[in-house]
Amino acid sequence: MKTIHVNASKSYDILIERGVLERAGEEIKTVCGAGEALIVSDDTVWDLYGETVLASMQKAGFDVTSFTFPHGEQSKNLSVYADILNALAARHLSRKGLVVALGGGVVGDMAGFAAATYLRGVRFVQIPTTLLSQVDSSVGGKTAVDLPAGKNLVGAFCQPSLVLCDPHVLSTLPDPVFYDGCAEVIKAAMLKSHAFFEDLQKTPPREQLEHMLEFCISMKRDVVEEDEFDTGARQYLNLGHTFGHAVEAASAFSISHGCAVSIGMVMMTRAAVKKGYCKEDTLEQLIALLKQYHLPTEVPYPALSLLGIVRSDKKTMGGTVTLVVPEKIGRCTLVPVPVCDVPDWLTAGGAQ
Ligand code: NAD
Ligand code: MG
Repeated sequence: MKTIHVNASKSYDILIERGVLERAGEEIKTVCGAGEALIVSDDTVWDLYGETVLASMQKAGFDVTSFTFPHGEQSKNLSVYADILNALAARHLSRKGLVVALGGGVVGDMAGFAAATYLRGVRFVQIPTTLLSQVDSSVGGKTAVDLPAGKNLVGAFCQPSLVLCDPHVLSTLPDPVFYDGCAEVIKAAMLKSHAFFEDLQKTPPREQLEHMLEFCISMKRDVVEEDEFDTGARQYLNLGHTFGHAVEAASAFSISHGCAVSIGMVMMTRAAVKKGYCKEDTLEQLIALLKQYHLPTEVPYPALSLLGIVRSDKKTMGGTVTLVVPEKIGRCTLVPVPVCDVPDWLTAGGAQ
């Protein structure tokens, strides 16, 4: 077992171990004590892993029940959020109670926000079951729900008490969902490590899951410890996301987040080459690796249709966008750009 300790406003451990799901009850009991708990999951994940976690928690002495909702981003709304709160209230869960999120990023974000707000905050444990949620969304304490006006517009910072990452559960993840998560893994390599980038080139991802989880979780942990509330260094994690979000929104979300981030990273690296921040070879290696991981690299929309979306992004504050610009594999820099210069960056990135 590998333990990664996070020292944020609250300290907690992230455990990485094959089969840890079967021992979830014992691990959670060690940190939280065995009391009342609600497991929140989606229908797909519950059918696959719900009974295992429930039985393990019952065996450890928890008074535990479950609440599930239909899988998918369309469930990440205020109405399902209210349903989770009502399930907690119906169970008379007290302030000593515990919410366990069993699922991908949607479950983690929703259950986390419910735990942050029910009775002004109860304890929260994450059991992430997608690659994206293991390497990204379960680290860092951001929770959220979507509004009709946009994604993640309501939420809270809420650090969990414990995170249990079981690489074994990724064996049931459909390939497109798995590779979607790989975009964030490649992002971590572009931000921090040429050696890790080479590891990704050499070994197929499903053969080095523990290594990928350990690298990405540690990388995000370091950034979050430096800037828990997203006012500085955490902006680096936006690599590929500013233009990626625009691509995602322009497609009305038919292009998935990971695919959009892949395209966004290519755009930003191509623009970086044109503007003299990095060499052509960096772009070539990035495109080759993304293709190896079945991720798209072509820009599907013209600059004009992306521009309006970048302008209205919640991160475009005070008329300036902070772009994360690659200098070489393993190193990026933050470049504040006035919104009037964004069209130039978009076309330099390959948008017509
Ligand atoms: P998801 O939770 O919708 O999961 C994707 C699909 O995989 C779902 O249909 C789910 O039922 C299924 N699934 C999950 N685990 C499985 C398994 N082990 N085997 C088979 N199927 C499984 O999506 P996601 O990609 O995990 O997360 C995306 C969400 O995460 C978005 O809402 C995004 O905004 C959020 N997010 C949050 C943060 C953060 O810091 N809080 C960071 C990144 C992304
Ligand atoms: Mg992302």
